[in-house]
Amino acid sequence: MAKSKISLILDSIEPQERLKKLITYSNLIEVEPHVPPKRYYRSGLEMVRMANVYHAEGNLENAYCLYLKFMTLFLEKIRKHPEFSKVPADMRAANQAKLREVLPKAEKLKQQLLEIYKRDYELYLGKLIRLEQEGEERRKAELKKKEPSKRQPSAAPREFVTAEIPAAIDSVNYPDPNLDATPSAPDLPPSYEKDFIPPVPTFDRGKKPSSESLTKYDTDTLRAVLVPAKVMTLFQSLAQNNTDKNVETCGILAGKLEMNQLIITHMIVPKQSGTSDSCATTNEEEIFDYQDHHNLITIGWIHTHPTQTAFLSSVDLHTHCPYQLLMPEAIAIVCSPKYQSSGFFILTPNYGLQYIANCRKVGFHPHPTDPPLFKHADHVRVENAPLDILDLRK
Ligand SMILES: [Zn+2]
Ligand SMILES: [Zn+2]
Repeated sequence: MAKSKISLILDSIEPQERLKKLITYSNLIEVEPHVPPKRYYRSGLEMVRMANVYHAEGNLENAYCLYLKFMTLFLEKIRKHPEFSKVPADMRAANQAKLREVLPKAEKLKQQLLEIYKRDYELYLGKLIRLEQEGEERRKAELKKKEPSKRQPSAAPREFVTAEIPAAIDSVNYPDPNLDATPSAPDLPPSYEKDFIPPVPTFDRGKKPSSESLTKYDTDTLRAVLVPAKVMTLFQSLAQNNTDKNVETCGILAGKLEMNQLIITHMIVPKQSGTSDSCATTNEEEIFDYQDHHNLITIGWIHTHPTQTAFLSSVDLHTHCPYQLLMPEAIAIVCSPKYQSSGFFILTPNYGLQYIANCRKVGFHPHPTDPPLFKHADHVRVENAPLDILDLRK
């Protein structure tokens, strides 16, 4: 199969440099002081879970990136969290054990990737040489064709023809043999014009890595989230008692990573307390125990608006923010039984996410609406798929 343009550009990067770019990208993880450290520790476990899937599926780059992110987060960045000292000892111990497991895996992957990059680069160089040779042969052939004496013996002497052809016509119809020997685009055979990408630098070296560039990168590469169609109806029937009392209900959406897709397989309804326009989970440990036990990653959350339409309120935006900071694809589903509609939302990755992460207000408060803080989640696919339900309220 033909390689994509991107991979061809990557092939043209010197192997060590290419690895360095991957490492730089993986290091672009920032710790938000307002996200409790516990959430990072839980998310760290999910990161390793996902990395293991990528590894098993042979997606070595994604596996390496995630292991590296995990290492950067827990060997370095989390220590700067203002509440780092409050992390329970058992949580830290479990994390240390994970680090010991991840470090050798990452090192081995690094060597494997370097080997692959070296191979890609050698193939690329080979192609470059071949291309240059072919260009040279073509030019020679073109020159031969332009020898009028050979094709048109009855025509005027060569000196005369060369002198009389206007320069403009010559430059339109023929490559000028007097130009230097560098192969130019029109010289290349059509197949190469399509396939071959010159070794242009694809990364702006002058640009400092920032969380903005990280989210920008992620926007373009959000993995698909598969939502079983029955999520909304089943959740609303579980919420019915609350809905009748004008009380919100919330649930956690969890699942697995498979072939670079996030698939929601479980809906967990935790112990909670709700009002007409808010809902808070209690006893969260139960949720995480269950997720750990079933190897589940957190993909988003769902809640009802008993009397309102499906949208994200200012409080919802703040509830959703940590989900999306820890997992760029995390979605918020809002069900509006009254209007019989549901919405799939995310914070706008290049604006809303950081805006809400920086907003210190609590409770309901107005936010500017332009540019928009949240949007419809375009990476969601609703399909008929199985769903397990765990109702912890009983
Ligand atoms: Zn809401
Ligand atoms: Zn706010």
